[in-house]
Amino acid sequence: MIRKLLRKVFTRRAAKISPLGEPARIPVAQHGIRREQVSPAAVRVCATLQEHGYQACIVGGAIRDLLIGRPPKDHDIATSATPEEVRALFRRSRIIGRRFRIVHVMAGAETLEVSTFRASASAETDRHGRVLADNVYGTQAEDAIRRDFTINALYYDPATETIIDYHHGVADLRQKTLRMIGEPRTRYREDPVRMLRAVRLAAKLGLIIDPAARAPIRDMAVLLENVPTARLFDEMLKLLLSGSAVRCVGQLREEGLHHGLLPLLDVILDQPVGERFIWLALENTDARVRADKPVSSGFLFAALLWPEVIRVWRERQAAGVAPYPALFEAMDKILDTQATQLAITRRIAGDIKDLWALQPRFEKRTGKTPHRLIEHPRFRAGWDFLCLRAAAGGIAQEIPDWWDRFAHAGHDEREALLRAAPAGDAPARRKRRRRKARTADGAPDGAPSDDAPNR
Ligand code: ATP
Ligand code: MG
Repeated sequence: MIRKLLRKVFTRRAAKISPLGEPARIPVAQHGIRREQVSPAAVRVCATLQEHGYQACIVGGAIRDLLIGRPPKDHDIATSATPEEVRALFRRSRIIGRRFRIVHVMAGAETLEVSTFRASASAETDRHGRVLADNVYGTQAEDAIRRDFTINALYYDPATETIIDYHHGVADLRQKTLRMIGEPRTRYREDPVRMLRAVRLAAKLGLIIDPAARAPIRDMAVLLENVPTARLFDEMLKLLLSGSAVRCVGQLREEGLHHGLLPLLDVILDQPVGERFIWLALENTDARVRADKPVSSGFLFAALLWPEVIRVWRERQAAGVAPYPALFEAMDKILDTQATQLAITRRIAGDIKDLWALQPRFEKRTGKTPHRLIEHPRFRAGWDFLCLRAAAGGIAQEIPDWWDRFAHAGHDEREALLRAAPAGDAPARRKRRRRKARTADGAPDGAPSDDAPNR
């Protein structure tokens, strides 16, 4: 009952918003964001546009993030100049996109996204209401209304240090509320990716999704099927590399959004061992992002999909396929299944396969193999992956520890390590071990060889 009432109030409030309404102009004394806090390149681009008679402001994530005391990830600029007019003003710039034409302006190491004010009413849609092209230009007020959430429709004018706020975004941010501009169902129909953005922004910024925007998500999740896979992949990457992947995936699951998105994620999250591995991989990624260390998307996807690879690898071996071919069949199958939903780029798929294919090689610590393996260009990434498997209890911690010592040792110490390596890596002992137990992540626990038993 109360929920219904709340929804009514919120919907009415959202519906009342008019594109012609006067925005609040919030001076720096109230919001506190000084020009020096935003990227100097963004300030320069806005100044150039303004000098040529156009309106130009910094909009979107940068202002939102600064308001809650986080360093902005990147800077988006909104202007009254058309893409061609912007392009003409900046030598190092190019127009990109078709569905949504914007200009990338390169300034030093930074790339600024400059988009022209758009009017949403005239957008071209498909039969589900999804917006296909959105290149009809409009005023700043019209531009504000077609943005997704109130906290993302804040325009900061570096010249005056004023925030122009059409939809009470500053107040919503203070109240830690993620509120949709307009009627949420319509907005999700126009662009189902907004559901993923809601989850990502709420998880990353510690906001509550307003009930009116949260309620329809479960029902409408199916609309994500109509979204081009490349776009889904981009959005998933943003989500997983947000530094709050653990919270984001937890919330995706809560909202029923993980089904069919990462088709394997639902399966994985139902398996205790797989689940532990996935959460560890996500925690590991979050820690790296927060420490400003590089994160490879190949590594991340390799980890997310690994429990499934293991499962299919075992199945193929049980069907009589030798371990190495079985592993390659499993890798292809998992990547193919994934491709129907998420367009993992070919380069990333290559990285993923490299990481997977290296894993069994770590379990062969005899002869020349270890010397060759430490020279492999992906050794370090493969070893990191191995550590993750050990941390999840999939393999003995002794294995990554051994490789770490081996990689850093001199000649004599290496020979000693090879002699001391558990003879389980040699054929005779391997058989005994195989009989003993399946490892926790289920991977064959010796280097796969032609006589490896089926499990
Ligand atoms: P971040 O860059 O931190 O991920 P962001 O909100 O800046 O977050 P961008 O993808 O850079 O996200 O988009 C810039 C702005 O464009 C957003 O703040 C929002 O105003 C608008 N926007 C982006 N995607 C959508 C969308 N799907 N529907 C409506 N507006 C959008
Ligand atoms: Mg942004």
